[in-house]
Amino acid sequence: MIKRALISVSDKRGLIDFAKELVQLGVEIISTGGTAKILREANINVIDVSEYTGFPEIMDGRIKTLHPLIHGGILARRDNKNDIDSMEKLGIKPIDIVVVNLYPFESVTKKHLLQPSALSLQQFLEEAIENIDIGGPTLLRAAAKNYKDVIVIVDPDDYPSIIEDLKKGEASIEKRFELAKKVFSHTARYDALIADYFDKISSSAFNTQPSGFREDWILLLRMVQTLRYGENPHQKAALYALNETPSLIDAEVLQGKEMSFNNYLDTHSAVLLASEFEEPVCVIVKHNNPCGVAIAENPLDAYKRAFECDPVSAFGGIIAFNRVVDKTTAEEIVQTFYEVIIAPGFDEESLKIFSKKKNLRLLKFPALSDKIKPSGFDLKRIIGGFIVQQWDTLEDEFAQAKIVTKRKPTEDEWRALKFAWKVCKHVKSNAIVYAREDRTVGLGIGQTSRVFSAKIGAMHALSSLKGTVVASDGFFPFRDNIDVLAQNGVTAIIQPGGSVRDQEVIDAADQYGMAMVFTGIRHFRH
Ligand code: 5GP
Repeated sequence: MIKRALISVSDKRGLIDFAKELVQLGVEIISTGGTAKILREANINVIDVSEYTGFPEIMDGRIKTLHPLIHGGILARRDNKNDIDSMEKLGIKPIDIVVVNLYPFESVTKKHLLQPSALSLQQFLEEAIENIDIGGPTLLRAAAKNYKDVIVIVDPDDYPSIIEDLKKGEASIEKRFELAKKVFSHTARYDALIADYFDKISSSAFNTQPSGFREDWILLLRMVQTLRYGENPHQKAALYALNETPSLIDAEVLQGKEMSFNNYLDTHSAVLLASEFEEPVCVIVKHNNPCGVAIAENPLDAYKRAFECDPVSAFGGIIAFNRVVDKTTAEEIVQTFYEVIIAPGFDEESLKIFSKKKNLRLLKFPALSDKIKPSGFDLKRIIGGFIVQQWDTLEDEFAQAKIVTKRKPTEDEWRALKFAWKVCKHVKSNAIVYAREDRTVGLGIGQTSRVFSAKIGAMHALSSLKGTVVASDGFFPFRDNIDVLAQNGVTAIIQPGGSVRDQEVIDAADQYGMAMVFTGIRHFRH
């Protein structure tokens, strides 16, 4: 005879109909807070667990049903004399049906893994912890263990067939066994989900390193699409996304051919460099290095200045702006062949002009109007793994800057030095950037010796270098660089400093009457 049911469910689907049927069959219902409330609202007679046990639900529901009057009623073997004696002695009444489903741990944590963010990890973990059901699995497992005497239901889909059975008399032993089996696989899966979540989140949540490196960081990626090919046509390639903002992958492609592997690489570099500047800037990137960078009052002038630096290399390049592109700028740009233009936006008229260049890719990337702080980490592949580092971003590039020469930079030179320094950070090492206060004039890129970069940067310049300044991404190891720069008419230098021959280098600069600043910061880009 089924006399007493314990119902405690998070998923309230089908609950009311099921409980009504039980009451009709003369079954007494005991319930936990939320479940009891819903049943009462449907005019179903129900006894609160707390009333039944004489013990309140405590600790925000962490303890509701964990009581011997409940678990004794479930676990007692009805054909065992000892168990029956205990029940009689302690006033334990048998519970014949246990209907429980668990806190929604899976759905709550799924959203954490889909939208991970380092900041909210602790909050995510706390929310997950509160969604670990304790009493529920205990009720289920107790009832499943005693399946001979107790019907256990974990799945609301099973309500109708049980009601049918009870109306006919009893649920068969085979059916009870099936239901118990279902329970154990359910609770096993539930615990596996918890373990899996802990596994994914723990390394990050408890990471005390200020760097915030996370073991699972790279696992949170998703493949977006395959690309036509990689750096070269014989290399297959694909695009993967991490759940990060801002994301270049979310940039809106307004027109043009599909973005290629090299397009993404170069656009990324152009965007990071453009993002260094608050004033309107134009960055032209070719083969992942800038070939012209300039600031101005407006995008048009910035573009013209950047283009003038090296019109030959600009051909087939990628342009980034940190301002909306307008008609006049578009008219100027379409005079030359480019692969990609990326900007926070494009006005209507500029779009019309660009639309004539069918293949030109236009990317709208609103994040470009502010300083971009990439989230996560920067990485490079090596055979068998990859190396990961924080992005090369600093709050203040010039916080440790100090003038080391007898002559101080003039105000104009200071502006030019700061401009050159921001650019040189984005040039492949060894980087030597010749610049004026609003534009690059010559770029020495990626040479294996610094003095070669100094010479090539000068060769690269199309206009006079007289009165220019130079930024160097690493220190000068010998005075030969200073000699080259002085011969070219450079008047001021910015570099990290830190060479054993710093004094020799400073003396050379003093000898030429140059001003030199040490930043104390290096910006290698390999
Ligand atoms: P209600 O919405 O009725 O307040 O709570 C129902 C949920 O509480 C069910 O998912 C059930 O598994 C869970 N539950 C029942 N007893 C306990 C307990 O003692 N501790 C905890 N943490 N959860 C319980």
